[in-house]
Amino acid sequence: MRINIMTALAVIGALALVSAARAEDEHRELGSHVHGHGTLNIAVEDKRVAMELKMPGMDLVGFEHEAETKEQKAAVEKAKAKLAKPLALFKLPASASCSVSEVRVVLEGGDVHDDGEENHAEQADADHDDDERGGHTEFHVAYVLDCAKPANLTSIGFDYFKTFPGANELTVNVVTAKAQSTYEVSRDKPTLDLGSMM
Ligand SMILES: [Zn+2]
Repeated sequence: MRINIMTALAVIGALALVSAARAEDEHRELGSHVHGHGTLNIAVEDKRVAMELKMPGMDLVGFEHEAETKEQKAAVEKAKAKLAKPLALFKLPASASCSVSEVRVVLEGGDVHDDGEENHAEQADADHDDDERGGHTEFHVAYVLDCAKPANLTSIGFDYFKTFPGANELTVNVVTAKAQSTYEVSRDKPTLDLGSMM
């Protein structure tokens, strides 16, 4: 019994370390994002496709402070509901037969300042690398899909851009058993050919 408890404590300790490290990562990324530009990581392993989407709160709801009014809270909920439907945002070939097995949507940040008019003059949109100023929020979404025929995942159509008018670009990192590559898709070029990756 004692051994079990010690093992359990060790595991909990390890998890705490991992989440602390993650929190630091989040902090750094929140301080350096660019509005209009999101990131999508895709890892294909056998029939399982894990996707991780990060996008600035600005792109989704048009603000990055904490939702205060009824309208703002509703906007956040609406955004989360849209994010929870990956197959509507990222069009995969029907022949890959993918279904959604997990979705987790989190809004990170947004707990910093309630900035009044006086803060806005110089900040504008230009400078996003000041960690100390903070005030950015990001939607972080994790998806797990199960695809019966992952070899048919040869393209992705990004209806994402139609769904979110504030989004303009998306950096897409793809890892498969065969290869690893980074792509840029955009509102002007909302498709990705993955033929060589699968
Ligand atoms: Zn921002």
